[in-house]
Amino acid sequence: MAQVVTIPTRPARIAALNDRYRHHAAIRVLRDALRDPELGRVAMVSSFGADSVALLHMIALVDRDTPVLFVDTQMLFPETLAYQQEVAAKLGLTDVRIIRATPAAIAAADPDGDLNQTNPDACCDLRKTVPLNKALQGFDSWITGRKRFQAASRADIDFFEEDPAGPRIKINPLAHWTAQDVADYIVNNNLPRHPLVSQGYPSIGCAPCTSPVQEGEDPRAGRWRGQQKTECGIHFVNGKLQRIQPAEAEPAEAETAAFEPVDGQPVIVRDSGFAADDFTGEILDLESDTNLDEANVNFREAELIRIAFPSFTDGRGFTIARRLRMAGYKGRLRAHGHVIADQFPMARRSGFDEVEIDADLARRQPWELWKRSSEVAPSYLTRLGRQA
Ligand code: SF4
Repeated sequence: MAQVVTIPTRPARIAALNDRYRHHAAIRVLRDALRDPELGRVAMVSSFGADSVALLHMIALVDRDTPVLFVDTQMLFPETLAYQQEVAAKLGLTDVRIIRATPAAIAAADPDGDLNQTNPDACCDLRKTVPLNKALQGFDSWITGRKRFQAASRADIDFFEEDPAGPRIKINPLAHWTAQDVADYIVNNNLPRHPLVSQGYPSIGCAPCTSPVQEGEDPRAGRWRGQQKTECGIHFVNGKLQRIQPAEAEPAEAETAAFEPVDGQPVIVRDSGFAADDFTGEILDLESDTNLDEANVNFREAELIRIAFPSFTDGRGFTIARRLRMAGYKGRLRAHGHVIADQFPMARRSGFDEVEIDADLARRQPWELWKRSSEVAPSYLTRLGRQA
């Protein structure tokens, strides 16, 4: 008589894996997961964010040829892109794969790059979930850096869990680590920290959707601040993808609401609201690729310096502004070109006093969007404890 072999279901396999590794340390879970035939072909997915370097370091110790998938939404902070290169080189990771939405998909669904304003779930789907799911198709399991302490929505995660987005298993070696464990590991192994951590970002995502976190707040409170959205769609909560509409925008202040953009005339955005351009002096214009070390100009004398942003994904203007402020420039700094409302916090942090936009953008992105951004990110003067 033939013997009947019962193949365990995926939930049963996951329960058995959690049982088997219950008392294991993170590095052991990681090492065994990369060799366990039950988990098949394994990739790591990393945002190269605030804590990522700890797990990336472990991966490099166990097998530096492990595929590491990095989703570049093309909305990331320039600091994240530079940090990704630095960490990969330092750890000797040999197979970092940059995952992006196709230009055709972006052109079709988000040609102006402002989908994050109108429908952040759709934006995350377009720029993260869809490209990542495509990249994961050759794998049976994937490693994440998720931890229980990060947010209430992650309080129950275990080492192994089902991936509701596909027939794969998610591996969370750091699930039980605390924030202190991560910090200790990074210090003890002398690993580089993401530069934005020291600027109040314990969790770092895309620039338009990430703001600094105040003391005592949930570490992920700065992600999609002011909205009920908590996850990007790569991760699910209690097995369900959350589909929550953005919170209602706050009403505009009366005086700003009264401001009417006029076609052909610039609109100036400041902390106080929209205004017409009142500057009548001489403007020093800098391009986004200006090399301050080589430009033969006395910047200190300029009353107003205007820095061009040819595209919202081009962050070089922020760097120029920071360098001017660090060099002691006290005059007025203005960003102009393709700057959107969610970049207002970064503009203020970088030292800009104001942003110049055209009437069309001012109508599409009214003052309440800029105001909400300015409220969660103090200006560079406030951060330095000086009078704005
Ligand atoms: S985090 Fe924001 S900008 Fe990034 S993909 Fe999601 S909605 Fe878009």
